[in-house]
Order: sequence, then C-alpha cells, then structure tokens
Amino acid sequence: MQKQITEANLRLLIDSLLLKGQRVVGPRQSGAMVLYEPLSSASDLVFNEQPRRSAKEAFFPICEDLLEYRKNGQQIDLEDIEPSRFPETVLIGVRPCDAAAMPVLDSVFSWDYKDQFYLERRSRTIIIGLACTSADDACFCTAVGLSPGDSKGSDLMFSHLVNGGFLVESHTDKGALFLESWKDRFTEPDGSKTLPLAQPEATPFDLKKIKGWLDDHFEDPAWDSIATRCVGCGACAFVCPACHCFDIIDEGTEKSGKRRKFWDACGFSKFTNHASGHNPRDLQPKRYRNRIMHKFKYYDDKFGQNLCTGCGRCIRVCPVGIDIAGILEEIEKK
Ligand code: SF4
Ligand code: SF4
Repeated sequence: MQKQITEANLRLLIDSLLLKGQRVVGPRQSGAMVLYEPLSSASDLVFNEQPRRSAKEAFFPICEDLLEYRKNGQQIDLEDIEPSRFPETVLIGVRPCDAAAMPVLDSVFSWDYKDQFYLERRSRTIIIGLACTSADDACFCTAVGLSPGDSKGSDLMFSHLVNGGFLVESHTDKGALFLESWKDRFTEPDGSKTLPLAQPEATPFDLKKIKGWLDDHFEDPAWDSIATRCVGCGACAFVCPACHCFDIIDEGTEKSGKRRKFWDACGFSKFTNHASGHNPRDLQPKRYRNRIMHKFKYYDDKFGQNLCTGCGRCIRVCPVGIDIAGILEEIEKK
C-alpha cells in the first residue's frame, strides 16, 4: 500500500503519538552526536544525518537490568524485570542499513534461547525506515546486497519527495495497520517524484568467494597484516547494527543488587579469557579475525546471513583507520 504525507503532517502525527503517551524513538541531537533516542517533541527529529550509533539499541540496550536480588534473612528474594511491561514504540527515521540488521539479529535472539527482552521489544515496535539520499565514502550497503532504498526490516518505508514530504509504503501488516489507524494524516500519492537515492561508491562483493577464503584460512599470515594495528577499543562493535555480543554480571553487595546485561565486544582483550588465565585469542589479530569470521563465515554457516549491512560506521569510528570494506576487497582478490 502506498500513501503520501507532508513533513508538517508527519510532525503533527508524531506530536499526537507523544500526546497519547506513545514512546517515539528517532534520530535526534544528543550532545555533540545524533543518536536514536526517545523524542520529547516532533521538532527533535532530524532527517539529514546518520545517527552515530545504530538503531539496535531500541531492542538491545547498552545496559539493562534482568533482575533484582535482596537478602532476606537466610533467603535471597529475586524480582524479575517483566519484559511484557516494555512500552509500545514507534521507531522512526531508521536508515535502511539499520533496519536491515533487525531480521538478521532476530535469528540469533530467537534461536536456541528465546531472549524475551529483545523479542518483546521487537514485537512492540513498529520500524519506519527512511531511504537515504546521500552517502559518504564509508557507506557500502550496495556491496553487501542492500541499497539506500532497501525496505528489508522496515514495516513502513518513507522516501523523500522532490517537493517535500514523503512517499510512504507499507511492507508488513503492522505497517498497514499503522497507516489505517492514522489515515487522516496520510493522503493518496499524487504522482510526485521521489528524490534520487544515494549512490554509495561500492561495487558488490563476491561474498561467496570471500566466505570460501575464510573457510580455508583460519590460520593465515594475512591476519597479522590486516589487524596488527587494531587497539581493541571495541568502538566498531558498539556502533555496529549487527554486532550483538553481551555479558551478564551481578552488580551490588551481598545484601542487594541487580543482574545486568550489557554490550561486550570480541575485540576486547579479556573477551575470551578463561578462568585458568589462558586466552585462546591472546593477540589482537586473532580477535579481529574473529570479527571477520563471525560476520562473513560463522553467521552464514549457522543462519545463512551476513552480519554486516555496509553502514560504514566501523570505518568512520576506528581510531587507527581499519577499513572493513577494504579488508573484504583484499580477501576477495586472494
Ligand atoms: S561491520 Fe561495520 S559496516 Fe558492517 S554493519 Fe557493522 S559497523 Fe556497519
Ligand atoms: S574500532 Fe578499530 S581499533 Fe577499535 S576494535 Fe574496532 S578495528 Fe580495532
């Protein structure tokens, strides 16, 4: 189903949602950065900048409580956090490279263990994607099978119209229901053209060939040259829409505290440290090898998908200039 909405009507719609007590999350200025964060008014929403971190944190927050514990005499009282209490959320202005990561993450969060914290947020959230009209040197969605107008993972897809406003396409029942519920704000398409999509300067990778090399080269001197300079800061994993490693710890005293889940990264030196002190990934190239293997071999072996949507964020933030697209290009040529 296709509809159209003016920017003024979109902002009125967002304010109506907020007035009804609905949680609306979208790109907004947050200090020096643009991040996906809850909006307090429609005027907070910004369209023209890719948020520094990805939209995954709407479903998989940086840190969240799983339960609280309290000592009660000889007993320990546990109080679970109820995922069913998570609010209904409209996640708006989502870049195609962020939205496309959600179905990829669904596979791991609903595999052997059903992560209710992630899955409840997913079921209570509508994702409204926004097609990109500009790309920078780091963007390479087109090299990993996506595009700046890709609707993968979006319930509704917005595209900028030449004369302002947006063309709106629904891609799921959830999207169609949203259009029906707010039909007064939308109009039928009047045939206006959409702005040209961004054109990242990236040609498609032969991902099968890359995986073929990875299958046979767990041990290879190339890993040293690829990743010796990685400092293990973890920034690449934290900004990535598809990275999903986490740790769980108990924080508090023996009398009371919380069990918390928080982001982790395979680039950290202690990520695979054993209780014995042995660390199978004792050097940084082994850790970076795991990053590439996980994204382009292990996840493919397990779920038939890649853990990279070509958003380019890891390239932009890496303090030592490691360029994952360049590395894939290098592997492809081998
Ligand atoms: S690996 Fe890098 S380019 Fe690929 S999705 Fe993650 S942050 Fe984006
Ligand atoms: S951002 Fe760069 S230096 Fe930091 S862990 Fe990732 S690859 Fe290594």
